[in-house]
Amino acid sequence: MSDKNIAIKVNQLNKSFGSLHVLKDVDLEVRESEVVVLIGASGSGKSTLLRCLNFLEVKESGTIHLEGKEVDPKKDDLNKVRARTGMVFQHFNLFPHMTVIENIIEAPVYVKKMKKEEAIKIGKELLGKVGLADKADVYPRTLSGGQQQRVAIARALAMKPQIMLFDEPTSGLDPELVGEVLEVMKALAREGMTMVVVTHEMGFAREVADWVVYLDQGSVVEIGSPEQIFEDAQEERTKEFLSKVL
Ligand code: ADP
Ligand code: MG
Repeated sequence: MSDKNIAIKVNQLNKSFGSLHVLKDVDLEVRESEVVVLIGASGSGKSTLLRCLNFLEVKESGTIHLEGKEVDPKKDDLNKVRARTGMVFQHFNLFPHMTVIENIIEAPVYVKKMKKEEAIKIGKELLGKVGLADKADVYPRTLSGGQQQRVAIARALAMKPQIMLFDEPTSGLDPELVGEVLEVMKALAREGMTMVVVTHEMGFAREVADWVVYLDQGSVVEIGSPEQIFEDAQEERTKEFLSKVL
């Protein structure tokens, strides 16, 4: 594990919204092919941390390195940086007026300037991968929530990201649809995708995570393997949180 390259390195990250200090001296390291699950109460800063990793939020202080290189929002082309970190949200945000395949090829064609035929070919392969090979030409509204979220994952993968960020990807789904999305995420993890996942699915965290990070009020309270966190948490705050969610 330790000989793998570091994919994400966050050092002393701080972020405030006005007078609200949302992320406090956050340190985090994710190596290539690792899956890191972020857990914590609502409002603890999980989404803000993911959004900082994707530069949808501008940090106040601290540094973020992606694949060994510090990202400087003032100098670097953030569209290129974002293309390397795919993001999947709770609400899938598919374009309703576009078919599934049109949704998937949008960014590769218009941001990456990929040839349309190539984007369609790659898009169809990805649809096969998420189990929706037959849905290329339908509109999102005709799909279930679980299917739409799988399209959203395929859409993010179409940019060939090195890192995938998931923000509560199953929280908006009916319980019977959660499994199919988690299966797609597990398959990605098995293929070696580097992933940071905010989720309340503790079973997924146990099974897939290399590391579980517990955030409370913007601070990283504890980081450990799933076994360490779920069976032998060291911090009172971690134990208290887990006693509520497990
Ligand atoms: P989580 O994802 O863990 O629920 P968030 O990162 O969404 O937490 O939010 C952390 C805190 O920051 C919350 O108190 C939230 O209300 C606040 N917050 C998040 N985004 C904004 C924003 N754009 N403007 C002001 N406050 C925000
Ligand atoms: Mg959130």
